[in-house]
Amino acid sequence: MILETEIKFLSGIGPKRAEILKKELNISTFNDMLYTFPYRYIDRTKFYKINEITEDLPYIQFKGKIIRIENVETPRNKRLIAYAADDSGNEIQLVFFKGIKWIKNKLNTNTEYVFFGKPNVFKGQINIIHPETETLSDENSQINSNIQAVYSSTELLRDNFLGTKAFNRFQSALLTLVYAKIDETLPEYIVSQYKLISLKEALLNIHFPQSPELLTKAQFRLKFEELFYIQLSLLSQRLNRMQKNSGFVFPKIGDNFNNFYKNNLPFELTNAQKRVIKEIRKDFATGKQMNRLLQGDVGSGKTLVALICMLIAIDNGFQTCIMTPTEILANQHYQTINDFLKGIDVDVRLLTGSTKKSERKIIDSDLTSGKINILIGTHALIEETVQFSNLGFVVIDEQHRFGVEQRAKLRNKNAVSPHVLVMTATPIPRTLAMTLYGDLDISTIDELPPGRKNVKTVHLFDTKRLQLFGFMREQIKAGRQIYVVYPLIKESEKMDYKNLEDGYFAITQAFPAPEYVTCVVHGKMKADEKDFSMNYFASGKANILVATSVIEVGVNIPNASVMVIESAERFGLSQLHQLRGRVGRGAEQSYCFLMSDVKLTAEARKRMQLMVRTNNGFEIAEEDLRLRGPGDIEGTQQSGLPFNLKISNLAKDGKILEYVRNVAFDILNEDNSLELKKNSLLRKNLEKKIKKTIDYSAIS
Ligand code: ADP
Ligand code: MG
Repeated sequence: MILETEIKFLSGIGPKRAEILKKELNISTFNDMLYTFPYRYIDRTKFYKINEITEDLPYIQFKGKIIRIENVETPRNKRLIAYAADDSGNEIQLVFFKGIKWIKNKLNTNTEYVFFGKPNVFKGQINIIHPETETLSDENSQINSNIQAVYSSTELLRDNFLGTKAFNRFQSALLTLVYAKIDETLPEYIVSQYKLISLKEALLNIHFPQSPELLTKAQFRLKFEELFYIQLSLLSQRLNRMQKNSGFVFPKIGDNFNNFYKNNLPFELTNAQKRVIKEIRKDFATGKQMNRLLQGDVGSGKTLVALICMLIAIDNGFQTCIMTPTEILANQHYQTINDFLKGIDVDVRLLTGSTKKSERKIIDSDLTSGKINILIGTHALIEETVQFSNLGFVVIDEQHRFGVEQRAKLRNKNAVSPHVLVMTATPIPRTLAMTLYGDLDISTIDELPPGRKNVKTVHLFDTKRLQLFGFMREQIKAGRQIYVVYPLIKESEKMDYKNLEDGYFAITQAFPAPEYVTCVVHGKMKADEKDFSMNYFASGKANILVATSVIEVGVNIPNASVMVIESAERFGLSQLHQLRGRVGRGAEQSYCFLMSDVKLTAEARKRMQLMVRTNNGFEIAEEDLRLRGPGDIEGTQQSGLPFNLKISNLAKDGKILEYVRNVAFDILNEDNSLELKKNSLLRKNLEKKIKKTIDYSAIS
C-alpha cells in the first residue's frame, strides 16, 4: 500500500509543502500525486528561431540572450520588458508584470537561456508574457524525456517553489519508488483486446513521455479507463432498471401507420429520421419500458418522428400524448398533427390551461373511455384529473423545460409505465448526454431535411440600427415577416419590460402604421392575448412581431425570414440558436441579426463569432461546453458533473467516450452482473468507484 503513503514523506516535500499541496491541489497521498496529470507538454526537441515566432503558435521554446532590460511605468501598470536576441540577430520582447525585482536580478546579459511561452501580439509587436526561463546548464537528473510535462499551478504553489519543475522532480522520484508496485486496474483480456498499454507504462509516459506515440497511448489508456468505469456503472444501473421495469410490446404495424405512410406523408423521411424510428420500434418490441432521449437540431423533423411512433402505439390499441412547455407550442403541434393526419381516423385533442371547463369535461371522459388517441397539451396533462384508459406512449417535447418530477408524474399515469420519448432541440453535447443521461438511450437526428438554407447570421453593433431598419423594409417589401426579440431573463425584471416597451415604441416609429403592422407578445400578457397576437402574426397580417423570448421554443412560421435579437450578448448560446431556429423554415433565404453593445466581454464576443460562423446546433452545444464547462450547460441544470474527471475532457473526448461505452455495453451484454471470473476485477473496481460517487439514478 505504498501508494497510500502521505505525500509529506516524498523526498523534497515535507510537512509544510504537503499542506500547501493539499490545500491547492487536494494532494494528500502518493497516489494523489501520481494521478495529478500535466495539462500540457512542451516539445523540448524543437527550438524556434526568433524570426520564426508568430503570434498564432502555441507554447514554444527558443534559445537567446538578454540584450537589454527596460522598466516601463504607465498610470495603469508597471512592467519590465526584457529584449532577447538569438544568433540570427532578431529580437523579441519578454514582458513581466510581476516579480519584477526578482527577475531583474536573475536575468543576466551574458548567459544563454531557454525561454518557454506563448507568443502574443501587442501593438504590432510579438511578445511573450512571463516566459518560463531556464539556463542551458540546468541539471536534468530526472527520468529522461524530450517532451516536458507542464502542471497547472497557482500563485501559492509558485511562491513555495511548487511549480512545474518541482512537479517534474516529484513525479520522477515517485515513479522510481512505486513503479514496480502499480497494479493493473483493467482485466488482462481488455488490455490486450483493446491494445492498451499497461497502467504502469501509462502513468510513466503521462508524466515523462518517452515518445509522442507513447504519450498518445498513455493518454488513451488513462482516458479509456476513466470513462470506461463511469459508463460501466451507468449502464449496469440502466440494466438493473430495465430488468425491473417491464413495458408494453407493440408488435403490430397497422392501418393508421400504413395509411399515413402511403397517403399522407408529404415527403421522404431523412435517413436520420428513418434510423431513429427503427431504434424506437426496436424498443417497442423488447417488452421493456423505453426511456429514450431524442436529440435533433431545430427543424430536423422530430415532431414527425414522434407522430409516426405514436401511430404505431395507436395501432396496437394504446393512447398517446405529447406534453409541451408552452401553450403556443401545444397549439402548434395540434395544428401540425391534425394537418398531417387529414383523412386518417385518429382522434386528436388539445388540453391546455386555457381549455374551457365544458370542453375539459368532454376530454376527461373521452380520455377514460379510450376514445382519444392523441392528447396534446401543456403541464395540464399531469394534473390528477387527467386519467387515460391505457396510455402506452408519452412524448415530452423540449424536455429540458420540465423538471424530473413532472416527467415522472407523466410516466406514472399507468400501472405499467408507458414508453417515454423525451425530445430536445437544445442539443446537449453527446458526451454530456451520455454521462448525464447515461442510463437513458439516446437517438440523434443529425441531418436536416434536404433543401434547407443556412440562416445568414450577422453581428451588428447598436450603432448600425438604421441600416438594419433599411434592410428590414426591403424584406417586408418582398413579403417577408420579421421577429424582433428582447431578452427576458426573469419574468419579473422591470428593466426588461422597459427595454421591450422602448423597443416596441422605436419599431412603431420606424415602421409606422398603416403602412406597417407590428404586434407584440410577452410573458405578462394573458394567454388569449398572446394567442391573438401570435395568430395575427402567423396568419401574415402583421409584418413585425416584437417579442420576448417566449417565442423561443418551437414556433413555426415559414414566411418569417428575419430574426433580430436585441442585446444578444445577454443570451446564452443555446438560446440564441433556438431563437435563430425560428427563421429559415421556408424556401426564402433567412437572416439573423445579433444586435449588441460595442463593449462586449471576451466570452460574449466569442459567442457572437460562433453564431456567425455556424448553424450547427451540435457544434454550438459542444462549443458551449468548451466555453462554459459542463456545469453551466443550459438544460442540464447540473452544478457540476457527479464525478471528477482527471484526464478526460467531455468537450474533446467524445470519440473515446462512445468507444468505451460500447465496450462496457458488450461486457454487460455477455455478463449482466459481472459474475464471470474474468470480470472479477471489474466488479471489484466498480463497487469501489460507485461507493465513492453519488447515485447516478438521481440525475435523470
Ligand atoms: P423540430 O425537430 O424542430 O421539432 P419539426 O418537427 O418542427 O422540427 O420540423 C420542421 C419542419 O420540417 C416541419 O415543417 C416538418 O413538416 C418538416 N419536415 C420534417 N421532416 C421532413 C422531411 N423528411 N423532409 C422535408 N421536410 C420535413
Ligand atoms: Mg419541435
